[in-house]
Amino acid sequence: MHRKTIAELAQGLRRREFSSVELTEALLARIRTLDGQLNCFVTVTEDTALAAARDADARLARGEAGPLTGIPIAQKDIFCTEGIRTSCGSRMLDNFVAPYDATVVERLRQAGTVLLGKLNMDEFAMGSSNETSYYGPVRNPWDPDTVPGGSSGGSAAAVAARLIPGATGTDTGGSIRQPASFCGITGLKPTYGRVSRWGMIAFASSLDQGGPMARSAEDCALLLQAMAGFDPKDSTSVERPVPDYAAALEGELAGLRIGLPREFFGDGLDPDVARLIQDAVAEFEKLGAQVLDVSLPHMALSVPVYYVVAPAECSSNLARYDGVRFGYRCQDPKDLADLYLRSRGEGFGAEVKRRILIGTYALSAGYYDAYYLKAQQIRRLIRDDFQRAFAEVDVLMGPTSPTVAFRLGERSADPIAMYLSDIYTIAVNLAGLPALSIPVGFSRQLPVGLQIIGNYFDEARLLNVAHRYQQVADWHRQAPAGFAD
Ligand code: GLN
Repeated sequence: MHRKTIAELAQGLRRREFSSVELTEALLARIRTLDGQLNCFVTVTEDTALAAARDADARLARGEAGPLTGIPIAQKDIFCTEGIRTSCGSRMLDNFVAPYDATVVERLRQAGTVLLGKLNMDEFAMGSSNETSYYGPVRNPWDPDTVPGGSSGGSAAAVAARLIPGATGTDTGGSIRQPASFCGITGLKPTYGRVSRWGMIAFASSLDQGGPMARSAEDCALLLQAMAGFDPKDSTSVERPVPDYAAALEGELAGLRIGLPREFFGDGLDPDVARLIQDAVAEFEKLGAQVLDVSLPHMALSVPVYYVVAPAECSSNLARYDGVRFGYRCQDPKDLADLYLRSRGEGFGAEVKRRILIGTYALSAGYYDAYYLKAQQIRRLIRDDFQRAFAEVDVLMGPTSPTVAFRLGERSADPIAMYLSDIYTIAVNLAGLPALSIPVGFSRQLPVGLQIIGNYFDEARLLNVAHRYQQVADWHRQAPAGFAD
Protein backbone atom coordinates (compact mmCIF):
# COMPACT_ATOMS: atom_id res chain seq x y z
CA MET A 1 0.00 0.00 0.00
CA HIS A 2 2.86 2.39 0.81
CA ARG A 3 3.89 2.32 -2.86
CA LYS A 4 0.66 4.01 -3.94
CA THR A 5 0.16 7.73 -4.40
CA ILE A 6 -2.65 9.59 -2.63
CA ALA A 7 -4.78 9.44 -5.79
CA GLU A 8 -4.25 5.66 -6.03
CA LEU A 9 -4.92 5.15 -2.32
CA ALA A 10 -8.16 7.13 -2.58
CA GLN A 11 -9.30 4.86 -5.37
CA GLY A 12 -8.35 1.73 -3.39
CA LEU A 13 -10.27 2.98 -0.37
CA ARG A 14 -13.34 3.72 -2.41
CA ARG A 15 -13.22 0.30 -4.09
CA ARG A 16 -12.87 -1.35 -0.67
CA GLU A 17 -9.56 -2.99 -1.64
CA PHE A 18 -8.39 -2.02 1.86
CA SER A 19 -9.74 0.06 4.70
CA SER A 20 -8.32 3.24 6.16
CA VAL A 21 -7.62 1.34 9.40
CA GLU A 22 -5.58 -1.27 7.46
CA LEU A 23 -3.72 1.45 5.59
CA THR A 24 -3.05 3.42 8.78
CA GLU A 25 -1.81 0.31 10.61
CA ALA A 26 0.48 -0.59 7.71
CA LEU A 27 2.06 2.87 7.63
CA LEU A 28 2.39 3.05 11.43
CA ALA A 29 4.22 -0.29 11.31
CA ARG A 30 6.50 1.08 8.60
CA ILE A 31 7.23 4.17 10.70
CA ARG A 32 8.02 1.92 13.69
CA THR A 33 10.52 -0.20 11.74
CA LEU A 34 12.08 2.39 9.44
CA ASP A 35 11.99 5.81 11.07
CA GLY A 36 14.81 4.93 13.46
CA GLN A 37 17.14 5.24 10.46
CA LEU A 38 15.75 8.60 9.36
CA ASN A 39 14.41 10.51 12.40
CA CYS A 40 11.53 12.08 10.45
CA PHE A 41 8.97 11.96 13.26
CA VAL A 42 9.12 14.03 16.44
CA THR A 43 5.78 12.60 17.58
CA VAL A 44 3.73 9.65 16.30
CA THR A 45 0.01 9.83 17.13
CA GLU A 46 -0.89 6.18 16.96
CA ASP A 47 -4.10 6.16 19.03
CA THR A 48 -5.75 9.24 17.59
CA ALA A 49 -4.73 8.05 14.11
CA LEU A 50 -6.57 4.76 14.47
CA ALA A 51 -9.66 6.52 15.82
CA ALA A 52 -9.62 8.92 12.86
CA ALA A 53 -9.17 6.01 10.46
CA ARG A 54 -12.21 4.24 11.94
CA ASP A 55 -14.26 7.43 11.44
CA ALA A 56 -13.03 7.66 7.88
CA ASP A 57 -14.03 4.04 7.22
CA ALA A 58 -17.50 4.77 8.53
CA ARG A 59 -17.76 7.75 6.20
CA LEU A 60 -16.49 5.68 3.28
CA ALA A 61 -19.10 3.01 4.07
CA ARG A 62 -21.85 5.65 4.06
CA GLY A 63 -20.67 6.90 0.68
CA GLU A 64 -19.82 10.32 2.15
CA ALA A 65 -16.13 10.24 1.27
CA GLY A 66 -14.19 13.05 -0.36
CA PRO A 67 -10.92 12.58 -2.26
CA LEU A 68 -8.84 12.66 0.95
CA THR A 69 -11.09 10.64 3.26
CA GLY A 70 -9.03 8.02 5.07
CA ILE A 71 -5.65 9.17 3.64
CA PRO A 72 -2.86 9.18 6.24
CA ILE A 73 -0.66 12.28 6.34
CA ALA A 74 1.63 13.99 8.83
CA GLN A 75 2.11 17.63 9.75
CA LYS A 76 5.33 19.58 9.92
CA ASP A 77 5.82 20.26 13.64
CA ILE A 78 5.34 24.00 13.07
CA PHE A 79 1.55 23.63 12.73
CA CYS A 80 -0.29 23.79 16.04
CA THR A 81 -2.28 20.67 16.88
CA GLU A 82 -4.78 20.65 19.72
CA GLY A 83 -3.72 18.24 22.46
CA ILE A 84 -0.61 17.08 20.57
CA ARG A 85 2.79 18.61 21.26
CA THR A 86 3.99 21.24 18.74
CA SER A 87 7.75 21.62 19.19
CA CYS A 88 8.79 23.65 16.13
CA GLY A 89 12.05 21.67 16.34
CA SER A 90 13.06 23.66 19.42
CA ARG A 91 13.85 22.99 23.05
CA MET A 92 11.92 26.21 23.65
CA LEU A 93 8.67 24.43 22.70
CA ASP A 94 9.60 20.89 23.69
CA ASN A 95 6.78 20.90 26.25
CA PHE A 96 4.28 23.02 24.31
CA VAL A 97 0.82 21.59 23.68
CA ALA A 98 -1.32 24.02 21.72
CA PRO A 99 -4.91 24.53 22.85
CA TYR A 100 -6.13 24.74 19.24
CA ASP A 101 -5.55 23.43 15.73
CA ALA A 102 -3.94 25.52 12.99
CA THR A 103 -6.37 26.28 10.16
CA VAL A 104 -4.38 23.98 7.85
CA VAL A 105 -4.62 21.14 10.40
CA GLU A 106 -8.34 21.71 10.86
CA ARG A 107 -9.01 21.82 7.11
CA LEU A 108 -7.05 18.68 6.38
CA ARG A 109 -8.87 16.91 9.20
CA GLN A 110 -12.25 18.07 7.89
CA ALA A 111 -11.23 16.73 4.48
CA GLY A 112 -10.97 13.32 6.17
CA THR A 113 -7.19 12.84 6.36
CA VAL A 114 -5.75 10.75 9.18
CA LEU A 115 -2.94 12.43 11.14
CA LEU A 116 -0.06 10.01 11.85
CA GLY A 117 2.15 12.50 13.66
CA LYS A 118 4.37 15.55 13.65
CA LEU A 119 7.47 15.87 11.51
CA ASN A 120 10.99 16.96 12.36
CA MET A 121 12.26 20.28 11.04
CA ASP A 122 15.00 22.84 11.50
CA GLU A 123 14.52 24.84 14.70
CA PHE A 124 11.82 27.46 14.06
CA ALA A 125 12.24 26.62 10.34
CA MET A 126 15.66 28.25 10.23
CA GLY A 127 17.92 26.08 8.17
CA SER A 128 18.47 24.24 4.91
CA SER A 129 19.60 20.85 6.18
CA ASN A 130 17.47 19.87 9.18
CA GLU A 131 20.62 19.92 11.29
CA THR A 132 19.42 22.76 13.55
CA SER A 133 16.60 20.65 15.06
CA TYR A 134 16.65 20.08 18.81
CA TYR A 135 15.60 16.50 17.99
CA GLY A 136 18.66 15.79 15.89
CA PRO A 137 19.15 15.73 12.14
CA VAL A 138 16.93 13.91 9.66
CA ARG A 139 18.71 11.67 7.18
CA ASN A 140 18.09 11.58 3.47
CA PRO A 141 16.63 8.18 2.49
CA TRP A 142 18.60 8.27 -0.80
CA ASP A 143 21.87 8.34 1.15
CA PRO A 144 21.84 8.43 4.96
CA ASP A 145 25.14 10.34 5.03
CA THR A 146 23.51 13.29 3.29
CA VAL A 147 20.97 15.84 4.54
CA PRO A 148 17.31 15.81 3.41
CA GLY A 149 17.33 19.59 2.99
CA GLY A 150 15.40 21.93 5.25
CA SER A 151 13.62 23.24 6.97
CA SER A 152 10.82 20.79 6.01
CA GLY A 153 13.35 17.93 5.97
CA GLY A 154 11.27 15.52 8.05
CA SER A 155 8.31 16.01 5.69
CA ALA A 156 10.40 15.44 2.56
CA ALA A 157 12.27 12.41 3.88
CA ALA A 158 9.10 10.77 5.24
CA VAL A 159 7.33 11.12 1.88
CA ALA A 160 10.39 9.96 -0.08
CA ALA A 161 10.80 6.90 2.18
CA ARG A 162 7.10 6.10 1.71
CA LEU A 163 6.34 6.38 5.42
CA ILE A 164 3.45 8.66 4.46
CA PRO A 165 1.97 9.53 1.06
CA GLY A 166 1.78 13.27 1.76
CA ALA A 167 2.74 15.92 4.29
CA THR A 168 2.63 19.62 4.95
CA GLY A 169 5.62 21.91 4.83
CA THR A 170 6.29 25.61 5.16
CA ASP A 171 8.47 27.76 2.95
CA THR A 172 9.98 31.07 4.06
CA GLY A 173 12.98 31.02 1.74
CA GLY A 174 12.81 27.59 0.12
CA SER A 175 11.91 25.17 2.89
CA ILE A 176 9.34 23.23 0.86
CA ARG A 177 11.11 23.27 -2.51
CA GLN A 178 14.71 22.63 -1.47
CA PRO A 179 13.98 19.53 0.66
CA ALA A 180 11.57 18.30 -2.05
CA SER A 181 14.45 18.63 -4.50
CA PHE A 182 16.98 16.87 -2.22
CA CYS A 183 14.57 13.99 -1.52
CA GLY A 184 13.15 13.54 -5.03
CA ILE A 185 9.55 14.47 -4.27
CA THR A 186 7.09 17.16 -5.41
CA GLY A 187 6.57 20.23 -3.20
CA LEU A 188 4.55 23.38 -3.79
CA LYS A 189 4.97 26.75 -2.13
CA PRO A 190 1.72 28.62 -2.82
CA THR A 191 1.28 32.35 -3.40
CA TYR A 192 1.63 34.35 -0.17
CA GLY A 193 -1.92 34.57 1.22
CA ARG A 194 -3.30 31.47 -0.55
CA VAL A 195 -3.00 29.23 2.54
CA SER A 196 -3.86 30.46 6.04
CA ARG A 197 -0.96 31.03 8.42
CA TRP A 198 -3.21 30.90 11.48
CA GLY A 199 -1.72 28.46 13.97
CA MET A 200 1.46 28.08 11.92
CA ILE A 201 4.26 29.20 14.24
CA ALA A 202 5.68 32.45 12.81
CA PHE A 203 9.27 32.75 11.62
CA ALA A 204 9.18 35.66 9.15
CA SER A 205 5.55 36.64 8.74
CA SER A 206 5.80 38.43 5.38
CA LEU A 207 7.52 35.39 3.81
CA ASP A 208 6.10 32.27 5.52
CA GLN A 209 3.69 30.14 3.54
CA GLY A 210 2.44 26.59 4.10
CA GLY A 211 2.03 24.12 1.29
CA PRO A 212 1.77 20.45 0.28
CA MET A 213 4.56 17.91 -0.19
CA ALA A 214 3.83 14.59 -1.88
CA ARG A 215 5.18 12.30 -4.55
CA SER A 216 3.25 13.71 -7.51
CA ALA A 217 1.78 17.00 -8.65
CA GLU A 218 -1.62 15.30 -8.73
CA ASP A 219 -1.30 14.51 -5.00
CA CYS A 220 -0.17 18.07 -4.25
CA ALA A 221 -3.29 19.30 -6.07
CA LEU A 222 -5.50 17.16 -3.82
CA LEU A 223 -3.80 18.40 -0.66
CA LEU A 224 -3.74 22.05 -1.74
CA GLN A 225 -7.46 21.87 -2.51
CA ALA A 226 -8.11 21.17 1.16
CA MET A 227 -5.50 23.61 2.50
CA ALA A 228 -6.16 26.71 0.40
CA GLY A 229 -8.68 29.46 0.87
CA PHE A 230 -9.62 32.55 2.81
CA ASP A 231 -9.45 32.42 6.59
CA PRO A 232 -10.97 35.27 8.58
CA LYS A 233 -8.46 34.44 11.34
CA ASP A 234 -5.48 35.36 9.11
CA SER A 235 -5.59 38.96 7.92
CA THR A 236 -3.01 38.19 5.22
CA SER A 237 -5.01 35.33 3.71
CA VAL A 238 -6.62 36.40 0.47
CA GLU A 239 -10.35 36.37 -0.14
CA ARG A 240 -10.42 34.86 -3.57
CA PRO A 241 -12.10 31.70 -4.86
CA VAL A 242 -10.04 28.49 -4.87
CA PRO A 243 -9.98 26.92 -8.33
CA ASP A 244 -10.48 23.18 -8.92
CA TYR A 245 -6.82 22.13 -8.99
CA ALA A 246 -7.46 18.51 -9.96
CA ALA A 247 -9.61 19.57 -12.90
CA ALA A 248 -6.80 21.78 -14.23
CA LEU A 249 -4.17 19.00 -14.25
CA GLU A 250 -4.81 17.69 -17.76
CA GLY A 251 -4.58 20.96 -19.72
CA GLU A 252 -2.44 20.86 -22.88
CA LEU A 253 0.95 22.55 -22.76
CA ALA A 254 1.00 23.56 -26.45
CA GLY A 255 1.96 27.22 -26.62
CA LEU A 256 3.11 27.44 -23.00
CA ARG A 257 5.84 30.12 -22.77
CA ILE A 258 8.68 29.07 -20.49
CA GLY A 259 11.24 31.67 -19.40
CA LEU A 260 14.74 30.59 -18.39
CA PRO A 261 16.19 33.32 -16.17
CA ARG A 262 19.83 33.55 -17.18
CA GLU A 263 20.80 34.35 -13.58
CA PHE A 264 19.73 30.79 -12.63
CA PHE A 265 22.38 29.21 -14.85
CA GLY A 266 25.53 31.07 -13.83
CA ASP A 267 28.47 30.41 -11.53
CA GLY A 268 28.00 27.99 -8.67
CA LEU A 269 25.54 25.74 -10.49
CA ASP A 270 26.67 22.12 -10.50
CA PRO A 271 27.17 21.13 -14.20
CA ASP A 272 25.31 17.84 -13.71
CA VAL A 273 22.32 19.67 -12.23
CA ALA A 274 22.45 22.16 -15.12
CA ARG A 275 22.38 19.34 -17.68
CA LEU A 276 19.39 17.61 -16.05
CA ILE A 277 17.48 20.90 -15.92
CA GLN A 278 18.17 21.44 -19.64
CA ASP A 279 16.96 17.88 -20.37
CA ALA A 280 13.74 18.53 -18.47
CA VAL A 281 13.19 21.80 -20.32
CA ALA A 282 13.69 19.91 -23.62
CA GLU A 283 10.90 17.51 -22.52
CA PHE A 284 8.58 20.49 -22.13
CA GLU A 285 9.49 21.63 -25.64
CA LYS A 286 8.42 18.19 -26.91
CA LEU A 287 5.11 18.77 -25.12
CA GLY A 288 4.62 21.92 -27.18
CA ALA A 289 6.08 24.62 -24.96
CA GLN A 290 8.33 27.37 -26.27
CA VAL A 291 11.40 28.50 -24.40
CA LEU A 292 12.58 32.09 -24.04
CA ASP A 293 15.54 33.71 -22.33
CA VAL A 294 14.62 36.16 -19.60
CA SER A 295 16.53 38.14 -17.02
CA LEU A 296 15.93 38.86 -13.33
CA PRO A 297 18.66 41.46 -12.87
CA HIS A 298 18.35 41.80 -9.09
CA MET A 299 18.58 38.07 -8.34
CA ALA A 300 22.07 38.36 -6.89
CA LEU A 301 20.70 40.61 -4.14
CA SER A 302 18.01 38.21 -2.98
CA VAL A 303 20.10 36.27 -0.43
CA PRO A 304 21.50 39.41 1.27
CA VAL A 305 18.03 41.04 1.28
CA TYR A 306 16.47 37.90 2.75
CA TYR A 307 19.09 37.72 5.49
CA VAL A 308 18.08 41.19 6.63
CA VAL A 309 14.29 40.88 6.26
CA ALA A 310 13.87 37.34 7.64
CA PRO A 311 16.03 37.85 10.77
CA ALA A 312 14.35 41.25 11.37
CA GLU A 313 10.91 39.64 11.36
CA CYS A 314 12.11 36.64 13.37
CA SER A 315 13.66 38.83 16.06
CA SER A 316 10.26 40.41 16.53
CA ASN A 317 8.25 37.15 16.31
CA LEU A 318 10.50 35.26 18.70
CA ALA A 319 10.35 37.98 21.37
CA ARG A 320 7.27 36.18 22.71
CA TYR A 321 9.34 33.27 24.03
CA ASP A 322 10.31 34.85 27.32
CA GLY A 323 9.96 31.93 29.74
CA VAL A 324 6.85 33.51 31.23
CA ARG A 325 3.79 32.66 29.20
CA PHE A 326 4.65 29.39 27.50
CA GLY A 327 7.55 27.27 26.41
CA TYR A 328 10.81 26.55 28.17
CA ARG A 329 11.59 28.15 31.56
CA CYS A 330 15.01 27.92 33.21
CA GLN A 331 15.43 26.36 36.65
CA ASP A 332 15.38 28.63 39.73
CA PRO A 333 15.69 32.09 38.20
CA LYS A 334 17.25 34.70 40.51
CA ASP A 335 15.14 37.57 39.21
CA LEU A 336 13.20 38.62 36.11
CA ALA A 337 16.26 39.46 34.00
CA ASP A 338 17.82 36.11 34.89
CA LEU A 339 14.54 34.37 33.93
CA TYR A 340 14.52 36.02 30.49
CA LEU A 341 18.21 35.60 29.84
CA ARG A 342 18.57 31.99 30.86
CA SER A 343 15.23 30.81 29.47
CA ARG A 344 16.10 32.23 26.04
CA GLY A 345 19.77 31.31 26.35
CA GLU A 346 18.98 27.68 27.16
CA GLY A 347 15.81 27.32 25.08
CA PHE A 348 17.11 28.52 21.71
CA GLY A 349 19.81 26.92 19.57
CA ALA A 350 22.77 28.69 17.93
CA GLU A 351 21.18 29.42 14.53
CA VAL A 352 18.05 30.94 16.08
CA LYS A 353 20.22 33.15 18.32
CA ARG A 354 22.31 34.24 15.35
CA ARG A 355 19.15 35.33 13.50
CA ILE A 356 17.72 37.16 16.53
CA LEU A 357 20.99 39.07 16.93
CA ILE A 358 21.19 40.01 13.24
CA GLY A 359 17.54 41.04 13.18
CA THR A 360 17.72 43.11 16.34
CA TYR A 361 20.78 44.87 14.99
CA ALA A 362 19.18 45.58 11.60
CA LEU A 363 16.09 47.04 13.26
CA SER A 364 17.95 49.17 15.80
CA ALA A 365 17.42 52.93 15.50
CA GLY A 366 20.90 53.65 14.16
CA TYR A 367 20.83 50.98 11.45
CA TYR A 368 17.18 50.70 10.42
CA ASP A 369 17.53 52.92 7.33
CA ALA A 370 20.83 51.40 6.27
CA TYR A 371 19.69 47.77 6.46
CA TYR A 372 15.99 47.11 6.92
CA LEU A 373 14.66 49.98 4.84
CA LYS A 374 17.23 49.39 2.10
CA ALA A 375 16.39 45.68 2.03
CA GLN A 376 12.68 46.44 1.66
CA GLN A 377 13.45 48.77 -1.26
CA ILE A 378 15.48 46.11 -3.04
CA ARG A 379 12.75 43.60 -2.29
CA ARG A 380 10.44 45.75 -4.42
CA LEU A 381 12.96 45.72 -7.28
CA ILE A 382 13.12 41.91 -7.10
CA ARG A 383 9.34 41.72 -7.28
CA ASP A 384 9.33 44.10 -10.26
CA ASP A 385 11.87 41.89 -12.06
CA PHE A 386 9.44 38.97 -11.85
CA GLN A 387 6.53 41.08 -13.05
CA ARG A 388 8.52 42.16 -16.11
CA ALA A 389 9.34 38.52 -16.85
CA PHE A 390 5.71 37.43 -16.46
CA ALA A 391 4.68 40.00 -19.04
CA GLU A 392 6.48 37.79 -21.58
CA VAL A 393 6.24 34.23 -20.27
CA ASP A 394 3.76 32.02 -18.40
CA VAL A 395 6.19 30.24 -16.09
CA LEU A 396 9.87 30.43 -15.18
CA MET A 397 12.04 27.33 -14.90
CA GLY A 398 15.42 26.66 -13.39
CA PRO A 399 17.13 24.52 -10.78
CA THR A 400 15.63 24.39 -7.28
CA SER A 401 19.06 24.18 -5.70
CA PRO A 402 22.57 24.63 -7.14
CA THR A 403 23.66 21.18 -5.93
CA VAL A 404 22.25 17.82 -4.90
CA ALA A 405 21.96 16.94 -1.20
CA PHE A 406 25.21 17.67 0.64
CA ARG A 407 26.77 15.58 3.38
CA LEU A 408 25.74 15.90 7.01
CA GLY A 409 28.00 18.37 8.79
CA GLU A 410 29.47 19.65 5.54
CA ARG A 411 28.01 23.15 5.81
CA SER A 412 26.98 23.42 9.46
CA ALA A 413 30.11 25.34 10.46
CA ASP A 414 29.71 27.82 7.60
CA PRO A 415 26.41 29.75 7.70
CA ILE A 416 27.10 31.54 4.41
CA ALA A 417 27.62 28.27 2.50
CA MET A 418 24.39 27.00 4.08
CA TYR A 419 22.48 30.18 3.13
CA LEU A 420 23.59 29.83 -0.49
CA SER A 421 21.72 26.53 -0.89
CA ASP A 422 18.56 28.66 -1.20
CA ILE A 423 19.96 31.03 -3.80
CA TYR A 424 17.31 30.06 -6.41
CA THR A 425 14.34 29.82 -4.06
CA ILE A 426 14.56 32.91 -1.84
CA ALA A 427 13.59 35.56 -4.42
CA VAL A 428 10.24 33.80 -4.90
CA ASN A 429 9.35 34.35 -1.24
CA LEU A 430 10.50 37.97 -1.34
CA ALA A 431 8.09 38.48 -4.25
CA GLY A 432 5.30 36.33 -2.72
CA LEU A 433 4.99 34.14 -5.82
CA PRO A 434 4.01 30.45 -6.07
CA ALA A 435 6.60 27.86 -7.13
CA LEU A 436 7.07 24.12 -7.04
CA SER A 437 9.87 21.60 -7.30
CA ILE A 438 9.63 18.28 -9.15
CA PRO A 439 12.25 15.54 -9.52
CA VAL A 440 13.88 15.43 -12.97
CA GLY A 441 16.72 12.93 -12.61
CA PHE A 442 19.70 11.87 -10.54
CA SER A 443 23.26 13.05 -10.19
CA ARG A 444 25.58 10.70 -8.27
CA GLN A 445 22.47 8.72 -7.26
CA LEU A 446 20.91 11.77 -5.61
CA PRO A 447 17.73 13.46 -6.86
CA VAL A 448 17.75 16.75 -8.76
CA GLY A 449 14.75 19.11 -8.66
CA LEU A 450 13.39 21.44 -11.32
CA GLN A 451 11.84 24.62 -9.97
CA ILE A 452 8.81 26.02 -11.78
CA ILE A 453 7.73 29.53 -10.75
CA GLY A 454 4.35 31.02 -11.62
CA ASN A 455 2.65 34.38 -11.42
CA TYR A 456 0.43 35.24 -8.45
CA PHE A 457 -2.32 32.67 -7.78
CA ASP A 458 -1.23 30.53 -10.72
CA GLU A 459 -0.94 27.34 -8.65
CA ALA A 460 -3.34 25.52 -11.02
CA ARG A 461 -1.02 26.18 -13.94
CA LEU A 462 2.07 25.08 -12.00
CA LEU A 463 0.38 21.82 -11.04
CA ASN A 464 -0.80 21.32 -14.61
CA VAL A 465 2.70 21.85 -16.03
CA ALA A 466 4.25 19.51 -13.44
CA HIS A 467 1.56 16.86 -13.94
CA ARG A 468 2.01 16.74 -17.71
CA TYR A 469 5.73 16.22 -17.21
CA GLN A 470 5.06 13.45 -14.69
CA GLN A 471 2.94 11.65 -17.27
CA VAL A 472 5.92 11.36 -19.64
CA ALA A 473 8.70 10.99 -17.03
CA ASP A 474 8.81 8.63 -14.08
CA TRP A 475 11.42 10.19 -11.77
CA HIS A 476 8.72 10.83 -9.19
CA ARG A 477 7.94 7.10 -9.11
CA GLN A 478 11.45 6.02 -8.13
CA ALA A 479 12.00 4.95 -4.54
CA PRO A 480 15.22 4.95 -2.54
CA ALA A 481 16.81 1.51 -2.05
CA GLY A 482 15.79 0.13 1.32
CA PHE A 483 12.49 2.03 1.28
CA ALA A 484 10.91 0.69 -1.89
CA ASP A 485 9.33 -2.56 -0.62
N1 GLN B 1 16.96 28.12 4.57
C1 GLN B 1 16.26 29.36 4.73
C2 GLN B 1 16.48 29.89 6.12
O1 GLN B 1 17.19 29.27 6.86
C3 GLN B 1 14.79 29.18 4.44
C4 GLN B 1 14.08 28.51 5.55
C5 GLN B 1 12.61 28.39 5.29
O2 GLN B 1 12.16 28.50 4.16
N2 GLN B 1 11.87 28.20 6.35
O3 GLN B 1 15.97 30.91 6.48
